[in-house]
Amino acid sequence: MLTQNFNQFVLPTYARQPLSFVEGKNARLTDSEGKEYIDFAAGIAVCSVGHANGRLNKAICDQISKVIHVSNLYYIEPQGECARRIVQQSGYTMKCFFGNSGAEANEGAIKIARKFGEVDGEPKRYKIITLEHSFHGRTITALKATGQEAMHNYFGPFPDGFVYAKNIDEIESLLDEHTVAVMIELVQGEGGVQPLDRAKVQALAALLKSRNILLMIDEVQTGIYRTGEFLASNLYEIEPDVITLAKGLGGGVPIGVVMTNRLDIFAAGDHGSTFGGNYLSMAAANEVLDILEELKDSGELDEILIYFETALSKFAAGHPALFMEHVGLGLMRGLRVADADTLGKIINAARNEGVIILKAGRNTLRFLPPLTITKEDINEGFARLEKAVASL
Ligand SMILES: *Cc1c(COP(=O)(O)O)cnc(C)c1O
Repeated sequence: MLTQNFNQFVLPTYARQPLSFVEGKNARLTDSEGKEYIDFAAGIAVCSVGHANGRLNKAICDQISKVIHVSNLYYIEPQGECARRIVQQSGYTMKCFFGNSGAEANEGAIKIARKFGEVDGEPKRYKIITLEHSFHGRTITALKATGQEAMHNYFGPFPDGFVYAKNIDEIESLLDEHTVAVMIELVQGEGGVQPLDRAKVQALAALLKSRNILLMIDEVQTGIYRTGEFLASNLYEIEPDVITLAKGLGGGVPIGVVMTNRLDIFAAGDHGSTFGGNYLSMAAANEVLDILEELKDSGELDEILIYFETALSKFAAGHPALFMEHVGLGLMRGLRVADADTLGKIINAARNEGVIILKAGRNTLRFLPPLTITKEDINEGFARLEKAVASL
């Protein structure tokens, strides 16, 4: 494996595993040595329809043989189509803006909140409350929105106006006359696959509505059927004011969306993105939405979700000394282990046996398989994980 170029020419911002994949098929990946893996990570919840999906490939190839990009100075019809599908599948009355990543989507959300706070009477409001252990992205503002102080070293000064609540219960006491929005993940992905309590989220939504404060849900990881419903917001039965999407929507093609019920918040020139919503990403997203809507409507998604959960529960129950807790929703799952050291050992042993899994937070083993994973691959993955755990 050639790491020389990385050592010499790539900034070392990632702790990479000594592994390089050359091809895949649905939930299987093959590395440069020809070894095959079961993929329980899906490129961090990105490859929602699996690797080398024939329908997605065809949709992308058909589109790029015509036109890839023209800019947003013109009407890109598949962009209108994609926005319509996202809004209709969400069930909310909203409009979309397209960008290229989760962080960019969240920047859009923050700009919506700030403009809302500017134009919505006196006093001007600007404060945005987020949660500790949240993750909202790596740009300067999304990083500041991220409630993990350790990630704020070196990069200041940051934009003002972000306040961190220890947990959802603490949010109410932090609201003041300058609060314009609350931004949360319904299941904290990077923070440890921790779902928020449904009743508390619903109570928060009602409170914020009564005080004219925007509820912004970061669904960059939870969105696009990851929790079993189109959006985790649907599962929680809330009506957010702003929602952001990214990871699973393009099936691997970069994309981000911010959608809001403040339909008139932006005027021409208020926001933009050169690549956002171009023919390439829209062809991909429209096909991903088609594939996953069919998977959901046929009942297959719900079936595979239960199958995965059952297999994971059985695996965890077989090793009570190792796995302390099973957390998560849908195909976004975690197993808590004692410490970071144990976590690293399990991930390495899994890799040796041919299973790709992720970590989240300090001590959570994280599972984010493609939504199209088969029962055979789930069985094979857990059979390999049994061997991995036995080897510890
Ligand atoms: C991954 C993630 C982001 C950041 O997305 P990028 O595409 O890496 O910018 C933001 N929020 C959540 C909840 C995420 O999981």
